[in-house]
Amino acid sequence: MARRHSRPYALTRGAMLSSSKERALATLISQGPMHRADLARALEVSRTTVTNVTQELLADGMLDSDQGTALRSKLWITHAAGVIVSVVCRLRSTVVAVSSLDGRTTALRSATQEPYDLGGHRLTTATHLIEELLAQIGNPPVLAGHVAVNTQIDVLTGEIVGGRASKRWTGFNPRTTMEGALGAPVAIENTSRLLALAEHHMHSNGQAHNLIYVHLSHGITMGQILHGTIVQGSHGGAGELGHMSIDLEGLPCECGNRGCLMQYVDEQVVSTRASAILGADATVDDLVASANDGSRACRSLIADIGGLLGKALVGVCHLLDPDVIVLGGELARAGDLLIDPVRQNLHQRALPLNARGLSVTAASASLSETDVASAGFHILRSDPHHVSRMLHAISDRVET
Ligand SMILES: [Zn+2]
Repeated sequence: MARRHSRPYALTRGAMLSSSKERALATLISQGPMHRADLARALEVSRTTVTNVTQELLADGMLDSDQGTALRSKLWITHAAGVIVSVVCRLRSTVVAVSSLDGRTTALRSATQEPYDLGGHRLTTATHLIEELLAQIGNPPVLAGHVAVNTQIDVLTGEIVGGRASKRWTGFNPRTTMEGALGAPVAIENTSRLLALAEHHMHSNGQAHNLIYVHLSHGITMGQILHGTIVQGSHGGAGELGHMSIDLEGLPCECGNRGCLMQYVDEQVVSTRASAILGADATVDDLVASANDGSRACRSLIADIGGLLGKALVGVCHLLDPDVIVLGGELARAGDLLIDPVRQNLHQRALPLNARGLSVTAASASLSETDVASAGFHILRSDPHHVSRMLHAISDRVET
């Protein structure tokens, strides 16, 4: 996808960014649309100064405002300044979204994927979806992208180095691939950690100090949000809960170790155990539905899985001391049937200081694809490095 922005989004010489214009745009990018008076406070300048600066940006076409009186009017950044793009690769879908630089998601589209689709196929799908979305809004210039992939990835280089545990993505570099497609810098994240950030934004209005999100799916991945920020580890390898051993003499794992948690609570393992109760090809959804209908065998199986998960999470609590644990993925739809045994294990086994006040909940049922994309946009908008590159990209487009 070799993209060039179309003429309607060209900027004239008058749009040259002065330092005051840059500061105003940077504030709106990081904090979102705001009233002119609030912008003056954020910039610590007089209302007269902010009026002059914003009038220039309004004349440039990079800002727009509602019909309020001058200081009460709300300001936002238009697509003429550029847009940012989010890609979220999940087990059964690829979701792309486009947002204004100040975080207003303007378009979103998704495609169904098979769990075993290769990474290259997912990125090609994402590229086509982005092309369609951008065409709908007149092909504005893309200034940055955020890409979340459902595998372990080196967030610094974009490399997939996970070996057998990441075989569907082996040989692909999502960062360089999407930077080439977008013609813009791309930040990389693991999908489960992005879901953790989205849950953090939903949970208690983002007030959790140390939130752990556990995604129960094909593999078990954990995201930690500490004081509002994703904990990636040195290279992006943090959170591989599925490969934490709960039995050193246990079942062999594809990673080469024994007794990894995913060998006991992974979706495929749970489906196989559910099939022994419900018949061949039973899914996790079937298991949860039967348990909710009162099947004692299904409830017992979910409780057993909850106990194993709780056992693993005791170690997590001792290492990381969270105040909230959120369980997501298909199995988490079992709600308290799964969560109660997790809570019991944590209450019985964790040290008192770690267990006291700890909340364990299911993922927010209302969390939407837009919320997840917004978490990716939030990462770009709250990173001074990315904001600086966005401003440079705008300056580079000013006609000379
Ligand atoms: Zn393993």
